[in-house]
Amino acid sequence: GIALAQRVAQIAPSPTLAINAKAKQLKAQGVDVLNFSVGEPDFPSPPHVCAAGKQAIDQGHTRYTPSNGIPELRQAVCDRYRQRHGWEYDPEQIEISCGGKQGLYNIFQAVINPGDEVLIPAPYWVSYPPMTQLASGVPVIVPLDEKNRFDLDVELLRQHATNKTRVVVLNSPSNPTGSVFSEKALSELARLVQERGWLVISDDIYEEISYTKGPLAHILNVAPELKEQVILANGVSKTYAMTGWRIGWCAGPLAIIRAMNKIQSQSISNPVAISQYAALSALTGPQDAPKEMLRAFFPRRDFFVQSLNRLPGVSCVEPEGAFYVFPNFSSYYGKSFQGKKIDGSVALADYFLDEARVATVPGLAFGADAFIRFSFATALDAIKEAMQRIEKALAALQ
Ligand code: PLP
Repeated sequence: GIALAQRVAQIAPSPTLAINAKAKQLKAQGVDVLNFSVGEPDFPSPPHVCAAGKQAIDQGHTRYTPSNGIPELRQAVCDRYRQRHGWEYDPEQIEISCGGKQGLYNIFQAVINPGDEVLIPAPYWVSYPPMTQLASGVPVIVPLDEKNRFDLDVELLRQHATNKTRVVVLNSPSNPTGSVFSEKALSELARLVQERGWLVISDDIYEEISYTKGPLAHILNVAPELKEQVILANGVSKTYAMTGWRIGWCAGPLAIIRAMNKIQSQSISNPVAISQYAALSALTGPQDAPKEMLRAFFPRRDFFVQSLNRLPGVSCVEPEGAFYVFPNFSSYYGKSFQGKKIDGSVALADYFLDEARVATVPGLAFGADAFIRFSFATALDAIKEAMQRIEKALAALQ
């Protein structure tokens, strides 16, 4: 056959999407699977957002838009940053993308040269290393400590830095841990970033899903002087239960955004016109939906964390944001079921799926094999049932 590009061999398909597909397939076959692998809110998009999408079609917004997105939506993003954080961005400093994911992809493509190193704290979101590699960069994984509530460890980041380091990736609240980086760690990082002239990619996609009172610490709030060294990624997928509409954005230094626009104009042309109008309605319309989702997530999180921590040999840090719990199951590694050894998170997640009919994502996918990720964007009843099944499955290990 035709030879494939070498870059393809470096990466694997998204493991979370693959597990979700397997769980859905089992369900379609009539198997009673409880699915905790998904990374999307279990709510419909708000009705006014859907209406805005329909209206966009009726009003003829069915053509190409400016490549970087419609001006109204870029303005709405600027307004939001000013209102929420007091940050001033010009609409020219915003790029609308096909989900936060494609915005992040554009950033890596726009700033990485061959061999450039990207510091990625682990547990990390699955796509940062492959995005780095697809841009011919080198991911440098920096482990975070569960005992430190997965807070940034700036001293360890410093130790992993070389003269090839160009970028640090931040994701707070984090997928998969739900951790929020502390103001102290972010200030330390800010000093290092300034000293070395690095770029910070701050993936804030979960910033509106937070269980703590008051605003979350952010690198741009602890060090506003770093504005020219920080690029923000965000979107409507998680905040407004709009994963299928595929709208995200980036905000940052004009030169980087312009470079990204160039790439975007030669790849996707523009994000879906209809979805951009729906996203505009999400940002400017009633804000009840995110609040309602948070109200539902709270008791699920509490139940999950408490019942996981009650299991013998399991520890689970309480997430401060997002909708995932990330318990440590490593005390079960080395045990067996019917002669088959559980040698890590992949084997344990397989075991949970096969024997307990509970779909989860192995921590290995996030660079942390001791853990398993459960999404609590699932009904509380399903969480209760799953915990019983997991408890039974763990007890059956020898
Ligand atoms: N960043 C993180 C940390 C995520 O978890 C996700 C989605 O799973 C994204 C970015 C991208 O989301 P989307 O492309 O749906 O906006």
